[in-house]
Amino acid sequence: MRLARPLLALALAAASLAAGAQAAFPDRPVTLVVPFAAGGPTDVVARMMAIPMGRSLGQSVTVENTVGAGGTIAATRVARAQPNGYTVFLHHMGMSTAPALYKKLQFDPLKDFETIGQVVDVPMTLLARKDFPANTLPELQAVIKREGNKISLANAGLGAVSHLCGLLFQSAVGTELTTVPFSGTGPAMNALLGGQVDLLCDQTTQTVPLIKDGRVKVFGVTTPRRLEALPNVPSLDEQGLKGFEVKVWHGLYAPKGTPQPVLDKLNAALRVAMQDPEVKKRLADLNADIVPADKMSPAGLRTHLEAEIAKWGPVIRKAGVYAD
Ligand code: ASP
Repeated sequence: MRLARPLLALALAAASLAAGAQAAFPDRPVTLVVPFAAGGPTDVVARMMAIPMGRSLGQSVTVENTVGAGGTIAATRVARAQPNGYTVFLHHMGMSTAPALYKKLQFDPLKDFETIGQVVDVPMTLLARKDFPANTLPELQAVIKREGNKISLANAGLGAVSHLCGLLFQSAVGTELTTVPFSGTGPAMNALLGGQVDLLCDQTTQTVPLIKDGRVKVFGVTTPRRLEALPNVPSLDEQGLKGFEVKVWHGLYAPKGTPQPVLDKLNAALRVAMQDPEVKKRLADLNADIVPADKMSPAGLRTHLEAEIAKWGPVIRKAGVYAD
């Protein structure tokens, strides 16, 4: 009996300390981990939302680019971070393809994370370097038929959406190209602009301004319908690659065990950020669709993540693609 009382006091003290920390959250800057290099589309979205999120939380939200292995290095880092709300993670659909692509994954997307909410859905565009010898998809297909794997296709690493889009494109045209991985499509785009690689499939959050400025060639968009931001660019589907569709969804996560009151504050800050007029306008100009309120919730993201893991697993296993 004598022992129980001090233990009880200790437990009560610990509980009130935890409650105090949660109530005070955040009392220092929050780190927003991005799993790809600066300048790429994921980084663009992160830096756009970080400022209004910080205003809502009353503490700055600083973006940290942790790159490598198609986003899995960053996911592992976040899964092992303190579950106190000071480390959050913005990742795209790579969170759902990793379990099938990586045999030795160091994290479980469903068990090791709390979901905060979905963020944006972003279409992709198939691009070539400015002086590539083709201007239409049929011309591109003819060059690929003639040159085969002499053509290089850049991506942001195995498991990146540019890798997935590249796989689908190669399968659709029935030819294997030479893939060139980068730490994100920020650096990959620099190589395309510099003429060091031939092709790249990337999100409109990065490609719309470059297409409009004529700095790259564009062959199509990866959504069945054309995009408001790029009305003159046909879809790959309408040009004959029937059913070709990739739209990149993004989710915000925290390490498993992050307390509910903290998750609630992070979700509220996310909603404020995505209602920010400047953020809404910039994302609309880049054809990035902010998700509706029901998806911008912990349950909305978790349900979607479960469905996407179930969807992409068989597709990837059938393609016989592994990253490790
Ligand atoms: N676009 C990259 C990818 O292919 C992600 C990024 O660099 O933001 O996944």
